[in-house]
Amino acid sequence: MNYYSGRMGELIEQLATLPGIGTKTAQRLAFYIVSMPVDKVEKLSKTLVETRKNVRYCSECQTLTDSEKCPICSNPKRDHSTIMVVETTRDLAAYERTGKYNGVYHVLHGAISPMLGVGPDDIRLKELMRRLQGDVKEVIIATNSTLEGETTAMYISKLIKPTGIKTTRIANGVPVGGDLENIDEVTLLRALEGRTEL
Ligand code: ZN
Repeated sequence: MNYYSGRMGELIEQLATLPGIGTKTAQRLAFYIVSMPVDKVEKLSKTLVETRKNVRYCSECQTLTDSEKCPICSNPKRDHSTIMVVETTRDLAAYERTGKYNGVYHVLHGAISPMLGVGPDDIRLKELMRRLQGDVKEVIIATNSTLEGETTAMYISKLIKPTGIKTTRIANGVPVGGDLENIDEVTLLRALEGRTEL
């Protein structure tokens, strides 16, 4: 039974559709929102709409960005012949925070998971293969050390093999099951430096 009729009920229902937000959290957020000053709520809702409308995938690396090409892909000082493959834009941000990687990225937006029904066509692999037709010297596979991440790494290395492009995998210094974004910069750099050829 819905104790919150009308607009309150609708707000709770909408919030509960977001990932990781159950009914209880949705209720808490809804109560907080109705207690906020109207201009703050207007700013929040405007940001939501504007972000959704203007953020898109970079035509090169597929990361989320405001323009056709992201700042990394449009930077001529970056080494465009080295591509690091990551699962999410958050992983990209983790490597960028180290400030030590000068290549470019490719964001898959997921990992292959037969159990969850995520196949190679569900992540941005075709876009990666298209980029490999250009001048690429090395592909660094930096997917997570989870079952899905390893499956994806193996799949990609098999795809790239026939092209003869050097393919490496970041070292196992990254804890198994660890999300790249939660790992400190030193560990990330060590994993990058200790990468091995596949
Ligand atoms: Zn890009």
